[in-house]
Amino acid sequence: MNYKKLVNVFIILMMISTSVSIYTVKKVNATVSSSLLDANAWKTREQILANWSTLETTYPNLVSHEVFGKTFEGRDMLVYFIGDKNKAIFMIDGATHGQEVSGSELCYYYAKWILERNDPVLSQTVLTNSCIMIVPIVNVDGYKTHRKNMDLIGWNGSGSFANYGVDLNRNFDWHWDYGNATTGGGVSSDPVNANYKGPSANSEPETKAYISLWNRYTPKHYLNNHAFGNQIIWKADTKYVTDSEQKTEDDQVFQSVYNEYVQLTSEWGNTAIHLSTDGGTGNFGMSPYYYHRTYSWSNEIVLSQTSIAYSTLLPQLMNQWFPFYITLNLASCGARILDITTIVITIMIGIMIPIVMIIAYSKRGYIRKIKSLKLRW
Ligand SMILES: [Zn+2]
Repeated sequence: MNYKKLVNVFIILMMISTSVSIYTVKKVNATVSSSLLDANAWKTREQILANWSTLETTYPNLVSHEVFGKTFEGRDMLVYFIGDKNKAIFMIDGATHGQEVSGSELCYYYAKWILERNDPVLSQTVLTNSCIMIVPIVNVDGYKTHRKNMDLIGWNGSGSFANYGVDLNRNFDWHWDYGNATTGGGVSSDPVNANYKGPSANSEPETKAYISLWNRYTPKHYLNNHAFGNQIIWKADTKYVTDSEQKTEDDQVFQSVYNEYVQLTSEWGNTAIHLSTDGGTGNFGMSPYYYHRTYSWSNEIVLSQTSIAYSTLLPQLMNQWFPFYITLNLASCGARILDITTIVITIMIGIMIPIVMIIAYSKRGYIRKIKSLKLRW
């Protein structure tokens, strides 16, 4: 065989390998069924934890939990794992601010939705390639009642009971000192302020427990659910990064993940949630990025529709936010879902191109014509 024949064979093999590796963004055909709902009101802490216990009992080989710390009032802080802890971790949590309960509920329903394989291909992909790590309730002591934790600092025995405690979302050491009463930044040094950052960085038991948790289980992507506006914040705001190459690289990752979310949400027929890159200081959503380069996100699940019944609102929120959870989950493990149309087209191209090439090669006339055009390879 002369070298030109070898070159032709090589080209055919290259075409085959190229055509079969055509790769597209996943498409998830899923809707949220109201049959997933099993109560008609925002749950209490006890109900949330009871639901998690039921999941653990129902799926003993897939769901496990650990106690990773104690709150100010001495309650257990619980983290749940869906899948193998040794796999790439996607982490979500809820109720860093105790009254922002929607995140806690969405975390639970996401786990349930995946475990019940409501979208079989997606569930298989997620369970095969990743571990979902969920802290259902961050501010355990204050769940449903109190924005800040129950640290008695700021409590003078009278006045508004609601004002004491530390804002856990301002307590981490990353740029803890950056925001204060003078500079603003949504942070306060006043113990009765809603954004009180605490007497010192990492002062609270809940904060310390989280740092220890992230040291043991480092997520690839992390989402800290809040409930206020209606936006996604890439909280690891890279404006604070001094290494320009790292900033560029990380910005690209954040942007590409957000772009994939926009595509998925449009496939669901939804409107994408607005993106903001203006992260604050001392936040949950920034800290694991700076400790471990975890791609860290925060969001604000709008709860302005309080007149809407829970049983109607929660499915709406699931439809609205699951595409973002899914995107982060898949990004954590580098997986994609190919829809059936793409698979068929890919296989057809993968078969057709080599056949055409082989026919063309066997019909030397075509080769001679090509050669007559003095094409080089
Ligand atoms: Zn919040």
